[in-house]
Amino acid sequence: MATFRKIGVLTSGGDAPGMNACVKAVVHRAKEQGIEVVGINGGYAGLIKGDLVDLTSEKVANIIGEGGTVLYTSRCPEFKTEEGIGTAVKTCRDNGIDALICIGGDGTFRGATDMTFHGVPSIGVPGTIDNDITATDYTIGLDTSINTAARLIDNLRDTNESHDRCGVVELMGNECGQIALYAAIASGAVACAIPERPFDEDAVIRRIFARRAAGTRSTIVVVAEGLKTPEGTPYSEAFYKKIKALGIQAKFFRAAHVIRGGRPTVRDRVTAARMGNRAVECLVNGESNLVVCEEDGKITTMDIAFALIADRMYKNKLKEGDLDRFTPEQIDRMKAICEKRRTEIAALYATVEHIAQ
Ligand code: ADP
Repeated sequence: MATFRKIGVLTSGGDAPGMNACVKAVVHRAKEQGIEVVGINGGYAGLIKGDLVDLTSEKVANIIGEGGTVLYTSRCPEFKTEEGIGTAVKTCRDNGIDALICIGGDGTFRGATDMTFHGVPSIGVPGTIDNDITATDYTIGLDTSINTAARLIDNLRDTNESHDRCGVVELMGNECGQIALYAAIASGAVACAIPERPFDEDAVIRRIFARRAAGTRSTIVVVAEGLKTPEGTPYSEAFYKKIKALGIQAKFFRAAHVIRGGRPTVRDRVTAARMGNRAVECLVNGESNLVVCEEDGKITTMDIAFALIADRMYKNKLKEGDLDRFTPEQIDRMKAICEKRRTEIAALYATVEHIAQ
């Protein structure tokens, strides 16, 4: 058991609905343990500037259902420098912050690792709508974003139906197609193009023509933002231009950041609360440099270094020597995690295709 008097919590990288519910859970679980919580405004930039706010139960009383992050967020390249991290560590020392909980994506977890190795034990919590962290089945924000996306596409479908149009919808997700896949299934899209799977453009175009010939007026194609043309431009726009050129009436819709906002769903609030609780418990148990995960519905933890290398393995971005410090059993476990993710993506993709027939 480690004894902490005060811990810090920050949100960093892209914001995600549910981050506030996580902050609230951290404050309450820590209070139960007699630990004070200080919020760091604006992620690692706030740690460097010393932009802190005491988080009492009263302060977090009404934030559980709010979108965005009340602690604000930022990208902070300065934190990656020795000087930047030195200042961040000094802020912790000067303000009696014994440990940190860092809510964000894999960049944020790298920062948490750096803080741990500079003497401030830190825990990462996955908060990003993209669900692109290989270690965990789920990241806080996904459910809200796909619900928002599905509602937006429903609206689009209404007007498409009136006008006899095909809607090409681009959805966020970084290099991960999960948001696009879930939204495509939920909205009955005719196809979904994602970075992880080959996309048979000609077959989809034939499908669109066949639907139209059969009298269906409204058609939706969802494209993940991470899918690019060989030239590196968004495939979504290229596909839209292509079908227009073929004489199909079409509209292009980039949902962009709109699906990042809004009140978090119950799924996101509950997962955020469970993960926030677990992060505090890890610190109290003397654990650090872990990322809180959801695996098969259970809240678990994984070493951040292991999680980041598993992520590189999944993305085929392993560098020489990356696996040297891991045992064969650990490497097998990484492979299993990657395979699980691939299987899930394949199953979602197959569902889109079944629904489209
Ligand atoms: P996300 O956490 O959503 O992946 P970013 O990649 O932008 O978002 O990372 C958020 C912040 O985490 C960065 O602005 C930076 O302050 C910190 N960070 C990112 N990468 C590293 C790294 N390699 N080492 C230390 N800190 C990092």
